[in-house]
Amino acid sequence: MQNLSEVLKQFQKQYPKIEQTNITEMIQKISEDDDVRNFWQTHQDELRSDAFQRKLIDLHEFVQQKERIKAGEKSLYPGYYPQLEIEKGYPHVRYVADEQTKKKRMQSEKLTTYKMPKAVADADLQTIALEPGRAQAVTEIVNVLTNILDDSLNYVQGLYLYGSFGVGKTYLLGALANALAANNVDVMMLHFPSFAVDLKDAIGKSNNLKTTLMNQAKTVSVLILDDLGAENLSMWIRDDILGVILEYRMQNELSTFITSNLDMDEMTAYLAETRDDRDAGKAARLMQRIQFLTKQVTVTGKNRRLNQ
Ligand code: ADP
Ligand code: MG
Repeated sequence: MQNLSEVLKQFQKQYPKIEQTNITEMIQKISEDDDVRNFWQTHQDELRSDAFQRKLIDLHEFVQQKERIKAGEKSLYPGYYPQLEIEKGYPHVRYVADEQTKKKRMQSEKLTTYKMPKAVADADLQTIALEPGRAQAVTEIVNVLTNILDDSLNYVQGLYLYGSFGVGKTYLLGALANALAANNVDVMMLHFPSFAVDLKDAIGKSNNLKTTLMNQAKTVSVLILDDLGAENLSMWIRDDILGVILEYRMQNELSTFITSNLDMDEMTAYLAETRDDRDAGKAARLMQRIQFLTKQVTVTGKNRRLNQ
């Protein structure tokens, strides 16, 4: 039987001189800590008789780290909190990822980005201000997020964020991507113009990169095509890359998002004319897929890039 107050009494008998030092204070703190007390009570039958003495420093670390985290001070392992567990009859301090760290870890596992700006990694739906120009987009994004996380819904139509340069379209969908990944949904966010150029450069070389990226873009649970319409369009990019991805996603009813500086009418004209051909029919068919997959939402506001 390992009653904590008994252990303390014995400990103090054994080391009568320590009363003058701050070890007394340290022991006091440890013995008053609720988690230590609970731990001792839960494991009283398993704890060795010298557990307190031998693990005094560990217990001290446990209490001290908890205090630091609570006070918002720098802790030993930022993003992790200490927990006591029993190991061969002794208390042992284990560090467990806190909620935010778990989310971050999940995000990095679930989110694939391709040539996206760094700032997107920090985009957080919860901190986005509801300015008038983006209120509708934020509301729609929150709705779509809720629907995608609702397992009872099979297909959730994505959004087509249209607006001028710098209003925050990419940032908004970056925040959506982070929220989805944090909730265990596979997301891929592609800067489409870079993706198009890199795939073109990969032609004739080892086709691995192209095959992997294309397969992922086709099949990932949620795909975000960023900045569609900014690339120098070739027939190959339009028909064999964009067309193939959109066709697959439409057939398989997979949520897809687009950001663009072009609205859907301008996009139709843009898709009709490539470097190689002019084909209004093809453009119309592509637009049908885009319209099936996305709903247009306009984002307005100031150009945030000018304020940096
Ligand atoms: P767009 O894609 O519409 O051209 P971006 O999403 O790239 O615009 O946003 C322009 C700049 O403003 C970027 O540097 C981005 O990080 C920043 N930004 C946009 N929205 C926010 C926001 N809500 N909070 C903080 N920074 C933002
Ligand atoms: Mg953008």
